[in-house]
Order: sequence, then structure tokens, then C-alpha cells
Amino acid sequence: MGNCPPSRARVVVVGGGIVGCATAYHLARRGCTDVLVLERKSLTSGTTWHAAGLITQARPTEGMRRIVRQSLEVFHDLEAQTGVGFRRTGTIHLAATGDRWEELRRQASSVSAEGIETEILAPDEIQPLYPLLDPTGLVGGVYYPSDGRGNATDTTLALARAAKEAGVRILEKTAVTEVIVRGGLARGVRTEAGDVEAEYVVNCTGMWGRQFARNHAVTLPLQALEHYYIVTDDVPGLGSGLPTIKSPDDCAYVKDDAGKLLVGFFEPGSRPWNSRGIPGETEFATIPGEWDHVTPFFERVAARIPSIADIGIRLFFCGPESFTPDGVYHLGEVPGVRNYLAAAGFNSVGFLSGPGAGKYIADWIVDGHAPFALTE
Ligand SMILES: Cc1cc2nc3c(=O)[nH]c(=O)nc-3n(C[C@H](O)[C@H](O)[C@H](O)COP(=O)(O)OP(=O)(O)OC[C@H]3O[C@@H](n4cnc5c(N)ncnc54)[C@H](O)[C@@H]3O)c2cc1C
Repeated sequence: MGNCPPSRARVVVVGGGIVGCATAYHLARRGCTDVLVLERKSLTSGTTWHAAGLITQARPTEGMRRIVRQSLEVFHDLEAQTGVGFRRTGTIHLAATGDRWEELRRQASSVSAEGIETEILAPDEIQPLYPLLDPTGLVGGVYYPSDGRGNATDTTLALARAAKEAGVRILEKTAVTEVIVRGGLARGVRTEAGDVEAEYVVNCTGMWGRQFARNHAVTLPLQALEHYYIVTDDVPGLGSGLPTIKSPDDCAYVKDDAGKLLVGFFEPGSRPWNSRGIPGETEFATIPGEWDHVTPFFERVAARIPSIADIGIRLFFCGPESFTPDGVYHLGEVPGVRNYLAAAGFNSVGFLSGPGAGKYIADWIVDGHAPFALTE
């Protein structure tokens, strides 16, 4: 049995990860403070707590880049108000094939047309920015100097605190069992401790999104997959604030992390986690993972950044993250149920997109229509 929720709120947000807390924060900023956030365990205990913290602006559509720009405004505001926020480090995207080079330059051209700073780099121009890199075999790189990093847990808790100060109610240890839908309209939510009547319900349940939505006959296609990173031992002489390296041809990214290197993987053939449903008690979940699954990509990135091969590995981490079939997150009103909105399935960009996605949902509720198209 969870906490006893109030019998009514104008908006009920289900899920207290970065997306749910950002939605509540933006609703409050738009003057809508009769908001209740219900979290089944504790804030950040889903996938938010283990995000690597990368904030990269090179996204595939104008709409998704706009979401990141909205997030950046929040990161900068929070930094000014609370000291939690954004550290500018830049990102260098590497191309090791002609096709990749073409793709990266096209993307840079769309992104720079929107006013985001980009620099096209020849292989010998990359190493001065990232001295650990061996540029052999690279065709070029694109540098985004205004990208950066943040801490997902601190950001989420700062958003929750600001929302609460504005009057939003947040209840932890309170699972929602279903959304109450009558006549094609969301009417509220059901919890073990009682029903809450609401004008709007927002599903921010992350990797639980599909199974949660199925309870009230809504289809939300997403699946939790294993997502890996390793953290090395201390790298002698490693400075701080190096750019993040994204190397799609190696299926890897690298960031410096308190004198160590964090190497994350987006390997082909990612493995599903609990495809029949996430177990009920899951919180702060880690997965044992299999080293052999990522070894080929570790070897590729170690050839690219040779010091990775020479140092020990302090942490081998695998955690779940939700992915959608087309790589586009679900954001907006659910087809067939008015006043029921979803913000879930963030394909490993939920930290950098979450604050902007929360604004998108809040603007939709307050203004009564979609703020802009995401897929264009
Ligand atoms: C290893 C790893 C590295 C990552 N690195 C990055 C990165 O560098 N940059 C980036 O942008 N993203 C990154 N991500 C992705 C990012 O962590 C997620 O996309 C983001 O945290 C999703 O936030 P969320 O709020 O949608 O989901 P969650 O944080 O999972 O929140 C959903 C919440 O809903 C709650 N909930 C579920 N069902 C119910 C219910 N019935 N009732 C009440 N509450 C419920 C859950 O308990 C949970 O707290 C990474 C992910 C992983 C796994």
C-alpha cells in the first residue's frame, strides 16, 4: 500500500524520472500548479540515475533539436539558480568511412543553419583538441563546441524541488495501477490507495511505458534493452573537460570522468531486457551483462584511443534503457484517448531531451495543442 493521494488534481504525472519531474516543473512555470506526480518507488530510480550525462545537439530532425535547445535553456537556468547544471565540453563526432563523413557533414549543415556552432575538422585537426586520439584511418570529424554534460540525478531532483516550491505535489512509493478512461477521455488514475480524478494524465513511466499503457488498452511500442558502459582506472595526466568523442563507426562514445575515461556502447544486436514485462520490484536496476557482447567494440575504440588499452577497467556497467522501433520517442497525446499524453521511450537521449520534452508536454496542456512537429 502506498501513500494516500489526494482525490483530485488538474494534471496527474505518472513517473518521477527526469521526464516526469521536468513536466511538473514546466507546468508550474506556466502557472498550472494543481499537479500531482506519482512515483512507484523513489525519484530517479528508473533509468535516470545511471545516465552518462552527455548533452549532444546533433539530432536527426529539427523538432528533436528544438527539444534539446529547450533542455539547454533549463540546464542553464538551473545552473544560474541552483548551481546544478551544465558543463560545456563540446563533442567531436568522428567519421571513419566516406559514407559516415557525408552523413556527418550533412547533419552539421542542417544544425549550423539553426545557429548551432559547428566546425568541420580534418583528421590532423582533431588530435590537438583530443590528444589521446590516434587519427589513423579517420576521414574527418565534426566539432560541436557548445555541447556539454550534466548530472541526471542532480538535475531531476532540482527540477522536483523547484516544482514543489511552486505548489506541485510529489508522492513517492505510490504506484499507479491504471489510467481511468471513459468515453475516449482520460478521467484520472487508480492507485492501490485510491483513485485520483484528473483533467489530464501524463504517462512518463519510461521503460514501463508499454506494459503500463496496456493496462488501459493503449499501445505504446517500446522495449527495454541492455545498455553498456565501462569506466577505466585513473588515466595519468588526463585533464578534465576534454570534448566527448562520438565514434559511430566504432559504435562507441568516450568522455572523461574525474580522471578516468567512460566508454559507452551503441552496439548492433542490442539485447532485450525482460521483454515479457519489467519485474514489479525493479528500482535502481543493474544487469550483470556480458563482456563478450561488447568486446569487439571495446577493441575498436581502444585502437582509436590507445591509452584505453593500457589501463585497467574499474567498472563494467550494464543498465536497462527503453528504445522505440523507429528511434523516435513518444511525445504527445495518445491516439484515441483525449487528454492522455505520453512522454516515454527516449532511446538513450532522455537526459538531454527530458527537460525540453517536459516543456513540450506542459505547453501542449496549457495551450491545448501540439507546440511543433517533432518528426520534421
Ligand atoms: C547506461 C546508460 C547511459 C545513458 N546515458 C545517457 C546520456 O548520456 N544522455 C542522455 O540523454 N540519456 C542517457 N541515457 C538515457 C536516460 O537515462 C533515459 O532516457 C532517461 O533517464 C529516461 O527518463 P524517464 O523519465 O523517461 O524514465 P525513468 O527515469 O525510468 O522514469 C520513469 C519512472 O516511472 C516510474 N513508474 C513506472 N511505472 C509507474 C507506475 N505504474 N506508477 C508510478 N510510477 C511509475 C518508475 O519507477 C520510474 O522512476 C542513458 C541510459 C543508460 C541506461
